[in-house]
Amino acid sequence: MTIRSKLALGLFANLLILLAPLAFAMRSLEQLHYSTQQLRDHAFRASLLVGRMRATADELRQSEERLLFVHDSAALSHVNGQLTLMRAMNDSLQGYDLEKARTRIDAQIENLMRIAPVEMAHAAKSPAIADTISTRQYLPAEREIESALREAELVLAQRTTTLVNSATELVDNTTEISGIGLAVAATVAFLVSIALWRTVSKPVQDLEAGMEAVAAGQFDYRLSVSPTRNDEFGRLATSYKSMAAQLAQLDRLKAEFVSVASHELKTPINVILGYLQLLNEGVYGSISAKQGEILRTVDAQTRSLSRLVHQLLDISRFEAGGGKLDLRPTDLGHFLSDLESTFEVLSMQRGIHFRIVRTGPLPTEVVWDPDRINEVLGNLLSNAFKFTRKDGAVELDVQADGGQIRVTVSDTGAGIPPEQLPHIFRKFFQADNQHSAAHDGTGLGLAIAKQIVDAHGGKLTVESRVGEGTKFSITLPVRTGPRPRRRSASTKAVDASA
Ligand code: ADP
Repeated sequence: MTIRSKLALGLFANLLILLAPLAFAMRSLEQLHYSTQQLRDHAFRASLLVGRMRATADELRQSEERLLFVHDSAALSHVNGQLTLMRAMNDSLQGYDLEKARTRIDAQIENLMRIAPVEMAHAAKSPAIADTISTRQYLPAEREIESALREAELVLAQRTTTLVNSATELVDNTTEISGIGLAVAATVAFLVSIALWRTVSKPVQDLEAGMEAVAAGQFDYRLSVSPTRNDEFGRLATSYKSMAAQLAQLDRLKAEFVSVASHELKTPINVILGYLQLLNEGVYGSISAKQGEILRTVDAQTRSLSRLVHQLLDISRFEAGGGKLDLRPTDLGHFLSDLESTFEVLSMQRGIHFRIVRTGPLPTEVVWDPDRINEVLGNLLSNAFKFTRKDGAVELDVQADGGQIRVTVSDTGAGIPPEQLPHIFRKFFQADNQHSAAHDGTGLGLAIAKQIVDAHGGKLTVESRVGEGTKFSITLPVRTGPRPRRRSASTKAVDASA
């Protein structure tokens, strides 16, 4: 399945999962709305009607008493009017499912309508008769109406309670189920997101790391995304692999070419230097002062060219995997003394304080390629002297640290701008501090130094503050073992990481 389909499917699943509790909540709200309508349309309106009927029944009772004991025709029409009103209201109760109470009330209204004119005539004869009529005819009818109304009220009250209870239950259930639904949806959405992250984000990060490694010259970086994957990432991993292989081959070819070209340049340069020496020695006749000056300039430039060619040859040998170390037991004391005497002269010429500090007990013997390590320290010290002004200080500190030797070359010179510090070990890189030294470098010295230290299984790092000075630190194993066979790109990878 392609990543696009996986993404679409994941998003769709997330949507569905989130929609489920929402749909349930909507349905419950609809039911709640229906219950409220029922309450309003049935229970509430019917209760209102029953209440009004009760009020009319009270008024009827008073009118009936007037009819029996005052006997005026106005009282009769009052009674009839209220009975008609009661009937109309009783008819309105139809459809509210209160048939039993309604029939009872209807029968009593019928009865009272029928007897009212007759009884008024009888009651007029004597108050005792009126009393009897009241007790035997009207009171039972009124009580029956009263009881029917109470029955209706009871039914309505029960119905209201049932509706309110079911609405409350519905709200409780909805809250609970929606809560659970949301929690489940959130969990599932989280799991789906993790699955998507694993399928999409992780390979993207891996490819990004791979690209960064290639950009830094590390062509043997292994992607964790398999090229056999049947999606876009699989295809990208395949392209990445072939791109890295092609770049690695190009890099090897380039290093080989530089190596061959530098080697070929060495011979003619040596011939030129030889002839320059002969000319200077006057073998081909005497030379004028002007010619001598020109010869010195040509000599200086040729030597600078020769140094560049040697450095290029050196670096390309390492890159092509051919930078071999001549590891042999070396007396550390002698090694350091030689270095000290070489740079003492320079320190006196430049007026810079220089010393080698041996901190703590040091092993008498180390197994290194002494020429190469001498080249590294020579380069670091030369740079330190180049970038330090008169009366400044350059110090080389050596101390043992477990099975390792730690060498620090520090100076009180110009320093390196912080933003340029990470690039300092790159080939041909020269920091923006050249004005501070009469500097004729190539930008290759530190790259070579790093390669040599790496080849010894050591580490070269730098710290610097502009205007305060620079400190290069090297850690080297006391005894460097034979190197495992290395791929051409690995040296460059360490360079880039510095
Ligand atoms: P170069 O041949 O230019 O000296 P390097 O690789 O030895 O080449 O050094 C690279 C750059 O690092 C130098 O050009 C300089 O800008 C900076 N650098 C090296 N060492 C020092 C130091 N001790 N103080 C200040 N800058 C330094």
